[in-house]
Amino acid sequence: MPIPGPVEPVPVPRAPAPRADGLVDLVGLDRAAIAAALVEAGLVTPREARMRARQLWHWIYSRGATDFAAMTDLAKPLRQALVRHFTVGRPEVVDALVSADGTRKWLLRSGGETYEAVFIPDADRGTLCVSSQVGCTLNCRFCHTGTMKLVRNLTAGEIVGQVLLARDALGEWPSKPEGRLLTNIVMMGMGEPLYNFDNVRDALRVVMDGEGLALSKRRITLSTSGVVPMMARAGEEIGVNLAVSLHAVRKEVRDEIVPLNRKWGIPELLEACAAYPGANNARRITFEYVMLDGVNDSDADARELVRLIRAYRIPAKVNLIPFNPWPGSPYACSPDARIARFSAIIFEAGISAPVRTPRGRDIMAACGQLKSASERLSRAELAARAAEKEAAW
Ligand code: SAH
Ligand code: SF4
Repeated sequence: MPIPGPVEPVPVPRAPAPRADGLVDLVGLDRAAIAAALVEAGLVTPREARMRARQLWHWIYSRGATDFAAMTDLAKPLRQALVRHFTVGRPEVVDALVSADGTRKWLLRSGGETYEAVFIPDADRGTLCVSSQVGCTLNCRFCHTGTMKLVRNLTAGEIVGQVLLARDALGEWPSKPEGRLLTNIVMMGMGEPLYNFDNVRDALRVVMDGEGLALSKRRITLSTSGVVPMMARAGEEIGVNLAVSLHAVRKEVRDEIVPLNRKWGIPELLEACAAYPGANNARRITFEYVMLDGVNDSDADARELVRLIRAYRIPAKVNLIPFNPWPGSPYACSPDARIARFSAIIFEAGISAPVRTPRGRDIMAACGQLKSASERLSRAELAARAAEKEAAW
């Protein structure tokens, strides 16, 4: 089946407010952009620029420095000049919470808006859940983030900034190749990463750079609700693991709970998964499946999921997510026994289907809760927004 044409510009109403101090933040720029900025500011000659950019890069991403004065291999006059033009920023921490299970959540602010990042420590890894947008333009019915009033793309610097801030908080400077706490990244915070493709790509390239934060692409997972035309580019230009928020195997149900399905349906989505560059048996695509009581959790649904994965020959695993209810959410989580049965059917077919353990519930750090209650849209506003979007499609 042909894949529908290019994705149209996303209706993202606002850019971040410019910095009041007029300084340019170097976080999120690649080395070439840093070099160009230094030349443009008249601080270095074009010949010198690459070398200085490499030094700055080292301080920012290997040492975690935020103060130009500490960058002692740069000449003092250059350090003084850098302060007048540039900054190495961090998002402002509005709130920092630690759960009884060790999960940490940060409510962050930059450019006037708040967004969240969550760190989940496990025995063998530490995963940072990173946001790509403030809010989300897609209104998945079970998701809290989709109810936020304000939506804007985060810049590459704001996305990288979440990783730097987590490293600060975990005391992980200078960067070291082994024994790290922060080992993995999932683009599963607020927002749809493939609706902010350029910034997410640029940010992840900074994060993956071997001379700095140096997280391998095998330790990064990008989750999409199914922006089909951008999936191949994600594989080619970013190359990280892919997770797809499938959540339903029948059109009527997915149309209802993941409204983007009305634009790109299950067959197109599964074809794009089968064609995802780099997917193979060793690097499987993860299908995320939120367990909603009586909605998508029958034995027949589980069997249909297996059938689809086989029919499209997708190297896949399934991640079953117990629904995390929020005030006013229109669904309930499937009972434990139902989830266990659903999982067993998929496992019996030879496909891995573990149930995700909810983490950080006491600090509202779990899936789809990443937002503050005061910023929620009312039901009427939500309905109006959904109708608007439907008309636009
Ligand atoms: N927008 C992207 C990534 C962020 S959401 C996406 O939708 O894939 C990360 C995962 O949490 C997605 O699979 C999402 O569907 C799921 N999720 C959202 N709200 C949830 C909730 N209340 N309970 C359980 N999972 C939820
Ligand atoms: Fe957006 Fe993902 Fe939430 Fe859907 S599940 S509203 S795509 S953040």
